[in-house]
Amino acid sequence: MSILFQNVTALLMDPAHTVLSNAYVAVEEGRIASVGTEKPTGRFDRTIDGRGGILMPGLVNCHAHTAMTAMRGYGDGHDLHTWLNEYIFPVEGRWDDRSIRACTDLGLMEMIASGVTCLADMYMRMNTVGQAMADAGISANLCNGAIFFGEDFSPAACDDCRKQEELFSAWHGYDDGRLRVDAALHAEYTSTPALWEWIADFAKSRGLGMHVHISETRKEHGECKARWGKTPIQALAERGVFDVRAIAAHCVHTEPEDWAIMARKGVSAVHNPASNLKLGSGVAPVGQLIKARVNVALGTDGVSSNNSTDLFEDMKLALLLQNGVHEDPLALTAWDGLEMGTVNGAKALGRESGAIAPGLWADLILLDPDAPNLIPCHDAANNIAYAAHGSNVVLNMCRGRVIYEQGEFLTIDREKTLREVREYAVPLLFGK
Ligand SMILES: [Zn+2]
Repeated sequence: MSILFQNVTALLMDPAHTVLSNAYVAVEEGRIASVGTEKPTGRFDRTIDGRGGILMPGLVNCHAHTAMTAMRGYGDGHDLHTWLNEYIFPVEGRWDDRSIRACTDLGLMEMIASGVTCLADMYMRMNTVGQAMADAGISANLCNGAIFFGEDFSPAACDDCRKQEELFSAWHGYDDGRLRVDAALHAEYTSTPALWEWIADFAKSRGLGMHVHISETRKEHGECKARWGKTPIQALAERGVFDVRAIAAHCVHTEPEDWAIMARKGVSAVHNPASNLKLGSGVAPVGQLIKARVNVALGTDGVSSNNSTDLFEDMKLALLLQNGVHEDPLALTAWDGLEMGTVNGAKALGRESGAIAPGLWADLILLDPDAPNLIPCHDAANNIAYAAHGSNVVLNMCRGRVIYEQGEFLTIDREKTLREVREYAVPLLFGK
């Protein structure tokens, strides 16, 4: 299928920050074929008139627990420990495949409608989650965050090691790499060095990336230093966990030495500002991470701690927080936010996308030219970074396939999903 976008304001997300007015973007066989202000020759199966609206790379949500849509607003108003132990963990014990599929589809609907074309998902029952991602048409890095407590580690006796192997066999490379599997540790504080070493070898031997929660709270960061005499980044790096492409979620309490290791090893920091603020975890040192040449991307984290998956909100928060904390209106610019949300995210997940350039996958979103909150448009980057909402997205294209358009989901059965969540998943999980 070939598609031509015409009459769009194209944000290319190239290093020169090019914005092309009255642009044409041609898509063929899933990839961007041409970009320019001259109409390309040739016949197209479909022409989409953007009526001057912004066409940009789809957003990349680099840290999500998609099925946690079920816990949106559940147990709010408690500290992290009480919230997890008394509210979240008991509910998670009741998941079955049918309920996790329904809640994953619900989360995907929300993400797709608000412009996400690629995500990194860490959760449980990932085989079923993988099927949901496959059916939705979205690109995803799937992982099962491994947890292991105790003295005697053996891969054969570690349930999460088996799950990583199974997930790898089931989904890695599916549909020309649209789905990938990353190795994953839930976190330093939920595992032991024996597991770190196993997971590092597992990732290296299979050519996988790595996904880990890092230094989300002051308590976790401090306890790790007390335990090992080093920070989580340092402790895990020493065991080889970051010898592959890696994403470190949160990084709120990381230190200058950590940033140097991350820059040297190419570990991407995934900033989750809404979740970090809502749970009172703190403000990640994003300005310093960028200065230290760490690739910084964005994530929503689970809906249970956000409470939405609108990555436009996180982009804006990321920028406002740095300007406020540093008392500097130029600490970060609109373009920094856009890079974190698109091209940096694609790099973090090892994807050939995140920008509009010939040869890249056509992961694109079109914004409503008539949205009152985007008028006037003195500067497209500023409008997107500070004024746009997920609800301004009128079209979502993943790998050249339109999966959402004008409120219609083309790959997910909206009615069935809502019915399954309301009538099956919520009663199962919450007993009501
Ligand atoms: Zn998380």
